[in-house]
Amino acid sequence: MKNYDIAIIGGGPAGMMAAITSMQTKNSLKTIILEKNDDFGKKLLLTGGGRCNITNSTPISNQLEYYNEKNFLKHSLYSLNNEDLICFFKDNGLKFNEEESGRIFPTTNKAESILNTLKQMIHDLNIETSLNTHVTKIENQENNFIIKTNKKTITANKIIITTGGITYPQTGSNGEGYYLAKNLQHTITQIKPGLTSLIIENKSLKNLAGITFQDIVVSFKNKKKKIQIRDDVLIKHNGLSGPAILNLSNKIMQLQDYDLLTNKTQFQETNISLDFIPNLSQEELNNKIIKDSSVYGTTMIKNYLKYYLVNNFITFFLNEINVSSTKTISNLTKKDKNKIIQNLKQFQLTVSNIDVKSAKITIGGINSNEINSKTLESKTTPKLYFAGEILEYAGPTGGYNLQVAFSTGYIAGKSASN
Ligand SMILES: Cc1cc2nc3c(=O)[nH]c(=O)nc-3n(C[C@H](O)[C@H](O)[C@H](O)COP(=O)(O)OP(=O)(O)OC[C@H]3O[C@@H](n4cnc5c(N)ncnc54)[C@H](O)[C@@H]3O)c2cc1C
Repeated sequence: MKNYDIAIIGGGPAGMMAAITSMQTKNSLKTIILEKNDDFGKKLLLTGGGRCNITNSTPISNQLEYYNEKNFLKHSLYSLNNEDLICFFKDNGLKFNEEESGRIFPTTNKAESILNTLKQMIHDLNIETSLNTHVTKIENQENNFIIKTNKKTITANKIIITTGGITYPQTGSNGEGYYLAKNLQHTITQIKPGLTSLIIENKSLKNLAGITFQDIVVSFKNKKKKIQIRDDVLIKHNGLSGPAILNLSNKIMQLQDYDLLTNKTQFQETNISLDFIPNLSQEELNNKIIKDSSVYGTTMIKNYLKYYLVNNFITFFLNEINVSSTKTISNLTKKDKNKIIQNLKQFQLTVSNIDVKSAKITIGGINSNEINSKTLESKTTPKLYFAGEILEYAGPTGGYNLQVAFSTGYIAGKSASN
């Protein structure tokens, strides 16, 4: 049986970064990456619509505020921060562009260039790789790990599990890592789909697929607390998507009693609200419409609303609130006006489910209380480390999830090589 100093299970961003960092820290180590696919980084290639939104320029102190596990992630994110990550790739010949909301992409606009850079480094550092190698069981015996795969059995002094989450299973990350971890005395928190589209059962909305609302506020109420996100929303054939919705889905799912691992997948219907005019309060909007009524009295409401709503959405909007679209402004009753104002600020829709297939990340993972946040070593099983999406965290859309995968991969690789 071949023996290694470090075996890394899973060749995504976290696993590749862990391998590179371990060898850069101590190049005498015998390190191997075991990946079940025929190549590394299948999910990485899909990121950012194939362009790879690798990180975000938002300062780490602010990024941490997005996470429930901020104390757990603090050390990793400060040790390899967003600037360090960009420098890491710049030193290897890549250049980057910053786009809206601080999203950072390689100038090649190809995720492939990120993957190729990582693969080249793995090659140059003489890191052993084993593709098409499916890890089926890990046993912890007498200070060594016995790693069973479809091809061979190997042993390793230390292991880093970087098998990712459970969403987009066709990329290889299908949740198997959770069972490998359970076998090594770890508990797994509820596993939920994150960054998903929201399903809305409304036949008329379906016909509006493709419409985008820019910079609106979406919200829902949790008990008395209003949780809201401001960004773009896209209408899809089965509901809503776009960055505001994806980020809202994380907040909604965090509150649901839902677990993919135990098939507890009953979604509790949730009402969400859309504010199309977030720059004006309801009172300011009311005053503006009263003022406009004297100037635009003969204008039909469907034409007047073009100032506030995307054209193709107006008829649907007026139908939903039962106001005739051909009424002129001066013919609107007080009740009509109130309904219009109320719904421009708080248009209600009911989310009947989430679109699991669209989920970009997994919420939940290895219980972070069981892992040392400074080293990412298991507190229950020494010499076992975790990095990347298998951990319990869920970042918003915008490059944050890859940043955590690389930062935690960096820390796990560095700690395991010491
Ligand atoms: C469509 C899509 C777009 C995304 N876009 C972005 C984006 O633009 N920016 C961003 O920050 N994040 C994005 N994400 C999220 C990001 O891709 C993940 O958070 C990130 O890939 C996680 O990295 P990882 O290394 O932890 O896991 P993964 O990338 O999932 O890699 C895990 C690897 O482990 C392997 N593996 C699993 N089980 C075994 C086993 N038993 N034996 C051997 N190998 C195994 C898998 O085959 C896989 O290669 C996107 C996700 C999706 C699905």
